[in-house]
Amino acid sequence: MQNVKLASESSARDSEQTMVEIGVDQRGYYGEFGGAFIPELLYANVEELREQYLSIIYAPDFQREFQQLLKDYVGRPTPLYLAERLSERYGASIYLKREDLCHTGAHKINNTIGQILLAKRLGKTRIIAETGAGQHGVATATVCALMGLECIVYMGSVDMERQAPNVARMKMLGAEVRPATSGSQTLKDATNEAIRDWINNPEHTHYIIGSVVGPHPYPDMVARFQSVISEETMWQLEEQVGRNYPDLVIACVGGGSNAAGAYFHYLNDRRVRLIAVEAAGKGVDSGHSAATSVLGTKGIIHGSRTLLMQTEDGQIVEPYSISAGLDYPGIGPLHAHLISTGRAEAVSVTDEEALESAFDLARTEGIIPALETAHAFYALNKITFNKGDVIVVNLSGRGDKDLAAYMKML
Ligand SMILES: *Cc1c(COP(=O)(O)O)cnc(C)c1O
Repeated sequence: MQNVKLASESSARDSEQTMVEIGVDQRGYYGEFGGAFIPELLYANVEELREQYLSIIYAPDFQREFQQLLKDYVGRPTPLYLAERLSERYGASIYLKREDLCHTGAHKINNTIGQILLAKRLGKTRIIAETGAGQHGVATATVCALMGLECIVYMGSVDMERQAPNVARMKMLGAEVRPATSGSQTLKDATNEAIRDWINNPEHTHYIIGSVVGPHPYPDMVARFQSVISEETMWQLEEQVGRNYPDLVIACVGGGSNAAGAYFHYLNDRRVRLIAVEAAGKGVDSGHSAATSVLGTKGIIHGSRTLLMQTEDGQIVEPYSISAGLDYPGIGPLHAHLISTGRAEAVSVTDEEALESAFDLARTEGIIPALETAHAFYALNKITFNKGDVIVVNLSGRGDKDLAAYMKML
């Protein structure tokens, strides 16, 4: 606990320094990516957030409540586990940052706890969210139950069918799940519905976005809430290997929130290689992929300028991945910046490769990862590194939700 406190106290200072080089500027840009491209009717909501988010989240009473909930409710700090059998195989020291051990089974709760506390301080009484696979919906429904706030989750009706157990979880937690029935009836349609709701209910409603996407200040705000991952990694590495940085950090990227959290305190530390792992689906060139950094071009999606998969006339191309959490046609503007400037190295991993890694991790370390996370592990086979390197793999979530996919392989 002492360590956690010390680390978090220094992090407010560190993050200010960190933000000087790679970080969001006053207008919400990371280099040429980011910004806030929103309909006029949302301007007041987003502006309120932009003006207040930093002073609210770095206020001492906010930090006290946030840290307490992360510790006692989420179960932080999550362990940094030296995977010995995996390390031996790859000839490196491979540490797993165990976000799978967080309450609700993934990193997403770090952000929803932060945003619900922010919503309360803004005087909001009604929470809306969008969800694809249902993981962010469950994390949002959880914190709304915790705080006794009304919760409405928009979800594509196709996704509701595919992810029935998560729909049940949200309902059991007291949330209302509203089907999005337009378009492809998946995540982007649910997002459109949530935005429409926010426009119609500007005063008492806060929209909890689940990744480092959306208009400024969401990408920066979510990255800061997730930055607890690298903040803990720093002191845990110091304790275990005698220096507070690894040679590589590997994380999967859907929108990019777990990766942003795992990279955050290393963004400006050039000794640390940042590896961003995307879903190649059935293959980057198969027409069934979500490898945005390869297939994406510059454009605007969900309120920010970033890389996204689109047709020549700007229509969004349906992404595909076996893992619902990576099945997104864009990436957060921070990652678009990191990858296009060469600060982060992008790796694409197919469905088949991810499945192989999931079984491999289960049988080598006794840990069943989420399908999203399994993509990150396969990157160990696709990148080169030096013998003895210290590698942190962000184990973003556990695999219970993906058992149906795994059972097909048994
Ligand atoms: C949602 C999810 C992801 C992808 O989201 P990011 O914002 O890119 O982190 C990755 N892993 C797990 C376990 C998830 O639930």
